Amino acid sequence: MRIDIVTLFPEMFDAIIENGMSRVALEKGAMTLQCYNPRDETDDSYRRVDDRPYGGGPGMVMMPGPLTRCIDRVKQSNAGEVVYLSPQGEKLSHSLVSEFAGKADLILLCGRYEGIDQRVIETRVDREVSIGDFVVAGGELPAMLLIDAVSRLLPEVLGNASSAIEDSFSNGILDFPHYTRPEVFEGLEVPTVLLSGNHRKIEEWRHEQALSVTKRKRPDLLSDE
Ligand code: SAM
Repeated sequence: MRIDIVTLFPEMFDAIIENGMSRVALEKGAMTLQCYNPRDETDDSYRRVDDRPYGGGPGMVMMPGPLTRCIDRVKQSNAGEVVYLSPQGEKLSHSLVSEFAGKADLILLCGRYEGIDQRVIETRVDREVSIGDFVVAGGELPAMLLIDAVSRLLPEVLGNASSAIEDSFSNGILDFPHYTRPEVFEGLEVPTVLLSGNHRKIEEWRHEQALSVTKRKRPDLLSDE
């Protein structure tokens, strides 16, 4: 999978290039990441990418010129959808992440300041994706969340292929509780079934637990079934 990112802060992406499942995906060649900076597409000596909003008001708006030139450069070698990370977009979910993980190409557009000029959205953006009903300062962290979630679903990335399948939301329900050593911690014992070695019983217990956790924490997931 090829992911190209349009961002004013490429260095922020070092966090996912150097760590976690995204790093594994890059090392295994399952994914490539490349950042493009609209500042490199400016035509003034100040390398200006933002300006005051027409109509007045606080803050700055990302200018359409450098942004569209940058997007068009990326599009020369990336045939994927242009996804603008935006609080106004469709909410990121497991099904959306799975959809993206099935694509060969993707272009992520990160906004800053008050956002980007509306004409960029109208002429270059295919869809808008939000990480939730709150506003963060820029699209970089939302883009990193998306990339982290997608990279876990790429074939051959997770060490144990079944672990992503068992994760919350994969089967429409939440994950079961996990335990590791020691067997007793602060007086709390690991459920005996997990020590039994009986794989069928362990599977049954985990499924029951996943259902009961979902019923307690996210009953809405069960009513959708
Ligand atoms: N004025 C915009 C609004 O209220 O819709 C918010 C601008 S925000 C300060 C700057 C940038 O952060 C946005 O252009 C977007 O790229 C990103 N952003 C902020 N909140 C986001 C969210 N919930 N999901 C995805 N991206 C977000």
